[in-house]
Amino acid sequence: MTAARSASSSDSTRARPSLGSNLDGVRQHNLGTILRLVHGTPGRSRSELTRATGLSRSTIGALVAELSSLGLVSEIEPRVSTGVGRPSPVVRANPDVVVVTVNPDIDGVSVGVVGLDGSLHRRVRHATAAPPTAAEAARIVANVLEGLRALFDSGLRPVGIGAAVPGSVREADGVVRLAPHLEWVDEPFAALLGEATGLPSQVANDASLGATAEHLFGAGRGIDDLIYLNGGSGGIGGGVITRGLPLLGGFGFAGEFGHTLVNSQGGRCHCGAIGCLETEVSQARLLGALGLDDPDALAEAVEHLDEAGRAEVERQTGYLAVTIRNAVNVLNPRRVVLGGFLGLLLQAAPELLDGEVRAQSLAASVEPVEIVRAELGTDVLIVGAAELAFTRLVAEPTAIQR
Ligand SMILES: [Zn+2]
Repeated sequence: MTAARSASSSDSTRARPSLGSNLDGVRQHNLGTILRLVHGTPGRSRSELTRATGLSRSTIGALVAELSSLGLVSEIEPRVSTGVGRPSPVVRANPDVVVVTVNPDIDGVSVGVVGLDGSLHRRVRHATAAPPTAAEAARIVANVLEGLRALFDSGLRPVGIGAAVPGSVREADGVVRLAPHLEWVDEPFAALLGEATGLPSQVANDASLGATAEHLFGAGRGIDDLIYLNGGSGGIGGGVITRGLPLLGGFGFAGEFGHTLVNSQGGRCHCGAIGCLETEVSQARLLGALGLDDPDALAEAVEHLDEAGRAEVERQTGYLAVTIRNAVNVLNPRRVVLGGFLGLLLQAAPELLDGEVRAQSLAASVEPVEIVRAELGTDVLIVGAAELAFTRLVAEPTAIQR
């Protein structure tokens, strides 16, 4: 994950004209709009920013100057002139403004340091013999940051922590209500991270953050209505982007497609219900049918299926199609993005999945839908977790400490 990602320039990035009663609010919004456009990219020229925002050149100049004085962007002269006249300076997000990303899982805690330009300064994995408790995970993060002290002393400016947790996370206070595989129940993880590190900390569900990451930088770039489903060893997570924004629901628990009903005759799920998607569509069952232990071998194996393997792929694909059909009819997405082993089901049986979804969904809803594989791979959680803190910065750029 280096800098070569380009941010979405959808309607949600449009600037507001400098009219209205709340001038400071408009200024913050426009500063944030510029920051959002350059964030995660190698930079954009002033003339591109003028075109993308609809603001005047002089307004863009003033906004860039303010962001520059806050240390959030720099202006550099372009190496190559693209036309006649003086080339437009390139506005670049400062890589030394960073977010610390955290991803606890059953055998360790991953910590990343991600720059505002999208550069990955460092990635550290601290392995644990057993699933870490929330307090242990927070201590591990503090220790990792202490170990990176020289890096931070070299001029990095951390703006916060973004953590991606495989579980139900309450948006308002970052309390993990339930993370079954970590065995966390009602853990105030955001508060624990804040106490351990002194940094403002936010926590969200991993798949919801995956949806945001794919929306901004992956297979959903430029698509403001999408559904993201990710399959891993721990089950199936999901997230929804609607009109360019994450759909969180009342408390942040929206998007649990893994626990939607696909088979009323199915087995009991760990959540207590019958016939959930993740009881029927599971990486472990796929590995078993293909005689494999290693999930990394799946991508190759689905290319050479025997009869039993093909039957299991088709069985799981049929159930996945039921969930996608329900999602299409309820949420009217333009794109469905499949990550993890769900992307491999699509790779193995694209016509079957597409055909089943189209045959069962309402015609008007399904006509524009494309079903595609996720693009960000294993970086998706780092990118998504970083976005949690960068979103706050973009909402109020002048709040950054100089
Ligand atoms: Zn369930």
